[in-house]
Amino acid sequence: MAVGKTRPSRLIIDRSAIYQNVKEAVDRLDDRTELFMVVKANGYGHGAVETAQAAIKAGATGLCVAILDEALELRTAGFTVPILVLGITAPQHAAIMTGHQISATVGDVEWLRQAKDTLAKAGVEEPLHVHMALDTGMGRIGLQDPADLGAAVTLMTEDPAFDFEGIFTHFATADSADTAYFEEQLARWHAFMAVLEKRPRYVHVSNSATSIWHAVCNGNIIRYGVAGYGLNPSGGELTVPYQLHPAMSLTSQLVYVKKIAAGRSISYGATYTASEDEWIGTLPIGYADGYERRLQGFHVLVDGQFCEIVGRICMDQLMIRLPREYPVGTKVTMVGTDQGQRISLQDVATYCDTIHYEIACGFTARLPRDYR
Ligand code: PLP
Repeated sequence: MAVGKTRPSRLIIDRSAIYQNVKEAVDRLDDRTELFMVVKANGYGHGAVETAQAAIKAGATGLCVAILDEALELRTAGFTVPILVLGITAPQHAAIMTGHQISATVGDVEWLRQAKDTLAKAGVEEPLHVHMALDTGMGRIGLQDPADLGAAVTLMTEDPAFDFEGIFTHFATADSADTAYFEEQLARWHAFMAVLEKRPRYVHVSNSATSIWHAVCNGNIIRYGVAGYGLNPSGGELTVPYQLHPAMSLTSQLVYVKKIAAGRSISYGATYTASEDEWIGTLPIGYADGYERRLQGFHVLVDGQFCEIVGRICMDQLMIRLPREYPVGTKVTMVGTDQGQRISLQDVATYCDTIHYEIACGFTARLPRDYR
């Protein structure tokens, strides 16, 4: 995809904010707990490689991604720290994982049998590092029954094709004020751990929310994602007891400014009609950049003032109502701070009735990322 470098719309990524968030999280951990930075989905839209660099500099000792290709991108970029693929990779790719020292998430015994065949056929000598996923209530991937864990562990410990490196679960409601479901999951986790005769090297249950609001669980890694990017995992439901530093801003510029007469309409469907003579500015950004069409009626900042997005958002452009004439080239802040006024990713998400995770990773590759 062509990146819009000649166009003045860009995501500004503050690497020092990521560094600070991770460093402060690492400083809060006890000596035996490590932080693996979650950089899946291009580092939640912030850039996987740049995020990983900042996180490792701040003390992260490993990386988590969702798919094998993301892990390979990091190895190609030169990262040598442990990398865990959190999603299910087809067992046919097991030899690629061993070849690059990438750890696999496994959710059933049959997967191990198929991977064993693949590794034998490929003549691989190095063991495949396996993290066993336990489904304690997320309902996504992982063993559901502690009895199955025994079978999986026996297979892995008896077979040199595997290194039983880790075991983990994922909580569905760690970011919620109501802890009842979390407690249920925790009880299931303990039931699983009770059948484990020997702990693997890595035991992990904490995403950002669990690490912030649940000081539990006897793990030795936290899988730190959204809070590392400076975002409150709960949106606004729970307060983070320390300061997070948001790393992503979105800015653009006015590329066209005009006065329209009362009664004139704006954009597809002519859904907005000026009630009086108005100054209208056009921004070179639209839904093809991940700035959602649902944001019609939301606002941006020009010269420290909130300006409404009027008319439908187009694929590549949108229009705002200005308080007065501003010159072409005037800076527009779409996410970030301008003269003390702020629009957060959470504000955008709330308007779209979604979560900031979706907004951050929804910005497309056409928007250049400028690293500060
Ligand atoms: N662990 C797993 C298994 C995940 O799927 C995710 C993200 O979705 C994370 C950790 C990181 O979560 P967060 O970004 O909320 O810290």
